[in-house]
Amino acid sequence: MIRFEHVTKRYPDGTTAVDDLSFEVARGELVTLVGPSGCGKTTTMKMVNRLVEPTGGRVLVDGQDVSTVDPVRLRRRIGYVIQQVGLFPHRTVLENTATVPHLLGVKRARARARAAELLDLVGLDPATYGDRYPEQLSGGQRQRVGVARALAADPPVLLMDEPFGAVDPVVRERLQSEFLKLQAEVRKTVLFVTHDLEEAVRLGDRIAVYGQGRIEQLDAPATVLGAPATPYVADFVGADRGLKRLSVTPVQEGDLEQPPVVHLDDPLPRELGARWAVVLDREDNLHGWISAEHAARAGGTVRDHARRMDAWLPLGADLKQAFATMLQHDAGWIAVIDRAQRGRFLGVLTPARLHEALRRSIDADAQDVPRAQVDVETVG
Ligand code: ADP
Ligand code: MG
Repeated sequence: MIRFEHVTKRYPDGTTAVDDLSFEVARGELVTLVGPSGCGKTTTMKMVNRLVEPTGGRVLVDGQDVSTVDPVRLRRRIGYVIQQVGLFPHRTVLENTATVPHLLGVKRARARARAAELLDLVGLDPATYGDRYPEQLSGGQRQRVGVARALAADPPVLLMDEPFGAVDPVVRERLQSEFLKLQAEVRKTVLFVTHDLEEAVRLGDRIAVYGQGRIEQLDAPATVLGAPATPYVADFVGADRGLKRLSVTPVQEGDLEQPPVVHLDDPLPRELGARWAVVLDREDNLHGWISAEHAARAGGTVRDHARRMDAWLPLGADLKQAFATMLQHDAGWIAVIDRAQRGRFLGVLTPARLHEALRRSIDADAQDVPRAQVDVETVG
């Protein structure tokens, strides 16, 4: 339905934004273009509706070379949704949505009825929102109007350039799932640009991972994540995967290190055997910590010199929380306690152990075994 044949775009200043690109989007398919900023995604998209003209190769829509079609007529057949929606500020939501059908000569009453239907379809009650002006809407609602407007002329092709990029993550997720439902109904041929891998994976029938002006891999989401075609793709999906995994990987007992431990009422030990020790109360609950330096100088009991321990987490907290706690308290380790056992101290998590836990969790998934069964090589 959309076909790129050896398409190149070199801007007058010498920048090669797109370099000999060939690929095809099938009818009713949604392909996401994902990649870092400046890699040529927007340029690719704009060559479909002739906002940008290629310097080499050609683009076909429905078998027709777009360079032979009048741009204005072409654009009426292609819905276009961008981040800064570009709604007309002095027209109501209903009027905005009816713009293109109106331009196409559809009678006013029919255009408005159709616009109302579309607003309903994107989750905006036309009775409530139809007469509002764009500035009276939230960012997420404006994006919905943008989608409704793009669909109003019932174009077979939709171009979407980071359409949900400007709204907060919660709203973005809702817009994504609504859009998926909508697409299941309307089955447009969609080219969808995003820099967010998660969004690309969620929405795309296939994902095109962009390097500098080129597609490094074009495959189903699972293939891109599971079998990256090049080191670049592996790097691109890997960095993100690791970060995302932090928040779904719980701290387990096996991840912890056992530091020296002293009790509150112990006399102050001469030697801790380490630079610091964890201080526990009579029930073995976490009380705080004590430094070796301090212990060497002072007399009295541990209680006299113990310091408060702010960097702690319950067992089962995720690695992202653990990492955040380390940063927040500028701590080289954090204590982990068992809430189920009235706060019993279990051990400490260090940056090295956190990294190990993350790698073990990735390997465990790859081998399909529990995390505790995975050995990883470590440095220390
Ligand atoms: P993306 O959408 O992936 O962030 P773009 O397609 O907007 O990337 O840009 C690709 C490259 O082309 C970038 O290096 C950008 O600076 C350059 N570029 C985009 N538009 C122009 C322009 N009108 N003139 C010159 N260079 C441009
Ligand atoms: Mg862009």
